[in-house]
Amino acid sequence: MINRSRDIKIVDTHFHLGECRVFDLNVTEEQVVKTLNDYSFSAMIVQPFPGAFPQPPIHVLNKIYELSRKYENRIYGIVSINPHVVEPDEWKSQVRKWIKDYGFIGVKLHTIGHAVNLMTKDAAMIFQTADELEVPLMIHSGLGQPFASPAHVSYYAEMYPDLRIVLAHAGFVFSAVDAFLMARNYKNIYLETSWSNMEDIQFFIEKLGADKVMFGTDLPSNTPIELAKVNAMNLNNEQRDSFLYKTAEKVFKIKVP
Ligand SMILES: [Zn+2]
Repeated sequence: MINRSRDIKIVDTHFHLGECRVFDLNVTEEQVVKTLNDYSFSAMIVQPFPGAFPQPPIHVLNKIYELSRKYENRIYGIVSINPHVVEPDEWKSQVRKWIKDYGFIGVKLHTIGHAVNLMTKDAAMIFQTADELEVPLMIHSGLGQPFASPAHVSYYAEMYPDLRIVLAHAGFVFSAVDAFLMARNYKNIYLETSWSNMEDIQFFIEKLGADKVMFGTDLPSNTPIELAKVNAMNLNNEQRDSFLYKTAEKVFKIKVP
């Protein structure tokens, strides 16, 4: 069974720490570390919730940074700051600081949790900043339309062909086909599959190649569910390894222990 031993490498590319006033959730540092250890994950990529308060969520980013120091090469950070509630210059300087000075490896754009219409100046700032900093941009997709429509991302996928774009939740079941088409049509778009149907994940891997698809769990309560899907899928070793960690290595430029 996946994964109670370290012989199968797994990177959980989508996990949260802290409180969320948008979705009424709370994940403690203990829960992050317990998930890392209980499932023998090789690495986890951790971000604040969109509903973290106050904004910018410096306290949460600090905790993620401390975890990334304590669990070096096993816990990494993604910066997530609501672009509507801080001045653009502060948003940009905060994101630059966490990436350049504190080693965070990506940026999150939460379309619904931060109420970001992709056709706005604030959205454009996020894409431009991630492109300048040469880090992947993870975008919440699917649930929360029209802002979370995967198709809206095409505007920027063309504008920034070198920016690695990760559609979180791969369209969240509802827009799975749209997410699939985006990943098929743009070489710089990848899918992260937390909350997706097992059959859809299998389809993504077969049709796109496992080097476009990556594993994520989002919440501690959902981690065993996502692992059960991996167990239920019919993947060869090469597909399984790409899905579970090699795509993450390539997209986030990390080396999995
Ligand atoms: Zn999430």
